[in-house]
Amino acid sequence: MENRFTGGCSSCSVRVTAGGGFLGKGLDGGWEVRCATCHHVDERAAADDFDREAIELPTVPPPGSATTVALRVLTLSRACWACGKDTAGLIGLYPQRPARGYVGLFTTDNAKTMALVRRLLRQHGHAALAATVKSRYSRTMRERQLSNGCGHCDALQGNFPVHDEAMGRVAASGVDGLDTLLVAGCPVLGWQAIVHDNSGGVVAI
Ligand SMILES: [Zn+2]
Ligand SMILES: [Zn+2]
Repeated sequence: MENRFTGGCSSCSVRVTAGGGFLGKGLDGGWEVRCATCHHVDERAAADDFDREAIELPTVPPPGSATTVALRVLTLSRACWACGKDTAGLIGLYPQRPARGYVGLFTTDNAKTMALVRRLLRQHGHAALAATVKSRYSRTMRERQLSNGCGHCDALQGNFPVHDEAMGRVAASGVDGLDTLLVAGCPVLGWQAIVHDNSGGVVAI
């Protein structure tokens, strides 16, 4: 069934115009909007031959879908273990206007999310902070990965201690327990690729 009113998608929070998406029952029994892209992914997910690793998103936003979505870039300032100075770590992304039924703080524990955060920072005048994110070797993960580094001495901050503290704050105070560095307009397909990525790094909130 088509949505009769403008609304935000319960899966990705992207705005859709009246008739531009679909209405469905949410987990709490209330009506929720799904954008055409997420609706398509849902239908694919129900198919027998569905491959979670190869989800195909459209190449352009479908008619009725907004082309950008406003995202909060969330950070956490903490003392660097090596030099002791305060440095900002990049934690994740959350919609500025979460839609009805929306859950999901997408964290930089996921390489794709970290890459998107870095891109958004570069595009919105935070090149210096973006430059602290580098591919570094992690002894815990035994591989190179994009990680937070100290803005003063470049020491790897370690995904686990940073996210452990960040999630403690989120558990206590929700998204507002973290700092919102900026609200960035993000192309919807870049955001939906994160939302429908299934390799971890999402916290229900
Ligand atoms: Zn959606
Ligand atoms: Zn440092």
